[in-house]
Amino acid sequence: MREYEDLVSEIMACTRCRLHLSRRNPVPGEGPVPSEVMIVGEAPGRREDEAGRPFVGQAGKLLDRLLGLAGLSRSMVYITNVVKCRPPGNRDPRRDEVEACNIYLRRQIRIVSPRIIVTLGRIAGETLYSMAGLRWRGIRAERGRPVNAVIEGLQVILYPTFHPAAALYNREVLPMLEEDFRNLARATSRRGRSLLDFM
Ligand code: SF4
Repeated sequence: MREYEDLVSEIMACTRCRLHLSRRNPVPGEGPVPSEVMIVGEAPGRREDEAGRPFVGQAGKLLDRLLGLAGLSRSMVYITNVVKCRPPGNRDPRRDEVEACNIYLRRQIRIVSPRIIVTLGRIAGETLYSMAGLRWRGIRAERGRPVNAVIEGLQVILYPTFHPAAALYNREVLPMLEEDFRNLARATSRRGRSLLDFM
């Protein structure tokens, strides 16, 4: 736990990229440590920047409902983002910002030690696939497909899907997102038992 607390302290004081200049609060992530399931989004938004917590806005409410479709609740999963500080105007994080922040995500994965990592949206999917040395073919091609991967020496299942914010702006995304979360438990089943049976 000391290792995790040190990591959070470092993120809170971080100035490794330009995003520290415009953030109100860094958003390291939250949830049980260790945790079987890790959720990785893109970046904090305005509400998250104000609160210093991940997924507290409208997208967060939708994420809570989606977790319920997978038989999960927020208290059962560790939630973080690819970058820990809000990009101004909610723009996409830039490549150099993602790279600067990646040391923290790597350490989080080592400490949280998840068996499955659900990536939300293109940037999270691309980043985790790249960390695992896998080729990313785009969100529509990869969504809902569990893939075995090794990240930081840890055997994990990557499970990409859309970012919940996409469903708030594009109604055709919501049914696919719901389907992916409904399939989450089945997608991780091992020897006829669900991963969630082990939680
Ligand atoms: S986004 Fe990451 S690397 Fe950039 S300042 Fe925030 S914590 Fe540091």
